[in-house]
Amino acid sequence: MKIGVLALQGDFREHIEAVKASGHAGLSVRRPEELEEVDALILPGGESTAIALLAQTFQIFQPIRDRIASGMPVYGSCAGMILLADRIIYGVQDQATFGGIDMTVRRNAFGRQVDSFESDLKFNGEPLRAVFIRAPWVEEVGEKVVVLSEVDLGDGVRRPVAVRQGSLLATSFHPELTGDLRVHRYFFDQVCAGAIK
Ligand code: GLN
Repeated sequence: MKIGVLALQGDFREHIEAVKASGHAGLSVRRPEELEEVDALILPGGESTAIALLAQTFQIFQPIRDRIASGMPVYGSCAGMILLADRIIYGVQDQATFGGIDMTVRRNAFGRQVDSFESDLKFNGEPLRAVFIRAPWVEEVGEKVVVLSEVDLGDGVRRPVAVRQGSLLATSFHPELTGDLRVHRYFFDQVCAGAIK
């Protein structure tokens, strides 16, 4: 498969490496013509406000929305999760997202004291060490959204940090930084395989 990685800002290089290590072609995408070439897209971690503004400047914002609407598989990590959310809390004023997943995401949800941390989670039932950096969590989901991982905040409070809706996958954490390819492989094998004929 030809997997595009939106390469405007953030840790797109690490995602391209993870794509290649998984045996697929990893292509950086900045222009609408490059988007047309790919079967699926990854939205990296970084700064969701900057990525959205740059996407407007590069005139690729609406083309990405259109491809999402027509069923292209997309995986977003961290800032990429925010960009796939239909609704956000604690965004900057009028912060735009590509949307597609019927969820409300809280930006910078873990607070300043815990800017970055690692945690042992279950992803799709398997143990996984996850890296969080100024991460969002998912505040609420619509009925079509499947929760694949949650964090335990104590006192019985849990928040989703990995979700899927059809051909869209999002994680609050950064598997591209750990060398563990299972989340990327889940995207290629479970999400893309069903969507790309
Ligand atoms: N806090 C960032 C944002 O709002 C996301 C952080 C990240 O991608 N590591 O976009």
